[in-house]
Amino acid sequence: MSFTLAIVGRPNVGKSTLFNRLVGKRLALVDDQPGVTRDLREGEAKLADLRFTAIDTAGLEDATDDSLQGRMRRLTERAVGMADVCLFMIDARTGVTPTDMVFAEILRKKSAHVILAANKGEGAAADAGVIEAWSLGLGEPIRLSAEHGEGLNDLYSQLMPLADEFEKNAQDTGPQVDVDVDEDDEEDAVPVPTRSKPLQIAVVGRPNAGKSTLINKILGEERLLTGPEAGITRDAISLRMDWNETPVRIFDTAGMRKKAKVQDKLEKLSVGDGLRAVKFAEVVVVLLDAAIPFEQQDLRIADLAEREGRAVIVAVNKWDVETEKQEKLRDLKESFDRLLPQLRGAPLITVSAKTGRGLDRLHDAIMRAYEVWNRRITTAQLNRWLTGMLEQHPPPAPQGKRIKLRYMTQVKSRPPGFVVMCSHPDKMPDSYSRYLVNGLRVDFDMPGTPVRLFMRSQN
Ligand code: GDP
Ligand code: GDP
Repeated sequence: MSFTLAIVGRPNVGKSTLFNRLVGKRLALVDDQPGVTRDLREGEAKLADLRFTAIDTAGLEDATDDSLQGRMRRLTERAVGMADVCLFMIDARTGVTPTDMVFAEILRKKSAHVILAANKGEGAAADAGVIEAWSLGLGEPIRLSAEHGEGLNDLYSQLMPLADEFEKNAQDTGPQVDVDVDEDDEEDAVPVPTRSKPLQIAVVGRPNAGKSTLINKILGEERLLTGPEAGITRDAISLRMDWNETPVRIFDTAGMRKKAKVQDKLEKLSVGDGLRAVKFAEVVVVLLDAAIPFEQQDLRIADLAEREGRAVIVAVNKWDVETEKQEKLRDLKESFDRLLPQLRGAPLITVSAKTGRGLDRLHDAIMRAYEVWNRRITTAQLNRWLTGMLEQHPPPAPQGKRIKLRYMTQVKSRPPGFVVMCSHPDKMPDSYSRYLVNGLRVDFDMPGTPVRLFMRSQN
């Protein structure tokens, strides 16, 4: 059982630097410019033997109007609401500012547990600021240097007893609710293991496909900022939410690219963004723009997802602007089969992120793909099936010696993987393997999911 820590404080005190240190360097961006980090970002954090979720927040601005700053502040308050513990950070070199004081007041009212950290605490220049931090009335400040990794043991000593407390509370409330992925499993299949963890989804696709709009719509609240203000960053790492009562964690790749447009020097950090999203995910949603579907970039990421063995869904967005829907759909299916044969049978769902149309179908397709991806088939069923396949289409006989397929079993799921015991596995032509894989897909109803088939000799 883990807990959630929100790192809050005015811009430029070093929140992202600490977040990066706890979560892993490559997951967040840091910049000198105040206010570069303006959204909630979430990551799995590690501090010695503690594992928890860290949230990096917007700066705690003291504006109260409905400007960007006001929205930032509301976002921060929301983060505080989501968190079990708040780490309130000030800059020890600057000392306590009026803004710090305003927000110390908010935290005193809103958060059950506040840990006060005086950051940039390395060196004598910070001495005065660390002492001043006591005046905030939030207890003893931790002297921290996020940049140099100093003071983390003190942070650990404050978090540890809290972690124990959360653990106890969690046990008191009983086991987590299990969400069974599929009620009507065919009798053939062994039931899918129940989930205790949110379903991990990555939404990938070219810039402007509508990824942020889609995630915003699912989230149903303004967690990712989309707005006309220049320089808004949306470099969310992952967002946890309930989608039609399914706990999900969605990895959003939109933000980093958006940021790269604003600031060239950050561009290089977004390289490999898609790859990370794919590695993170159980299900990958490749979001296409209906006006320009199946671009090189889309094809590459879809192929990558298949090779990494993820369940893949292709969603065609901006369907609201299509007029010739039937004709368009036919074209899309044709392009899909031609350009992504490796994803044969994967669902193609038309959606409008803007209006929300098709999102329920997308949800159901995701759940279904996830179920298939987890599918387990018993050995008895597989061998009955294999016998039929061999009769229907006997294996080849290179140099007059027929390859014997003796036995088959499923060795893994996520994605499903099978081993066939046979004589001369090295002589088995690819076409026969494909025949078996396609047969498995059809007969055990596993469209779209990557299916792995390995040939092995008996000894
Ligand atoms: P945020 O806006 O609060 O998220 O702050 P950032 O993490 O982006 O950090 C703002 C600036 O402070 C960056 O230039 C960091 O390198 C710098 N910084 C962060 N932590 C420390 C620290 O412990 N010591 C010093 N000297 N600088 C730091
Ligand atoms: P991202 O770069 O993939 O995150 O794309 P955005 O979510 O920022 O969307 C890019 C543009 O497409 C924005 O102007 C959106 O308003 C627009 N857009 C997104 N989804 C839809 C949709 O379903 N229909 C229409 N008509 N426009 C959309």
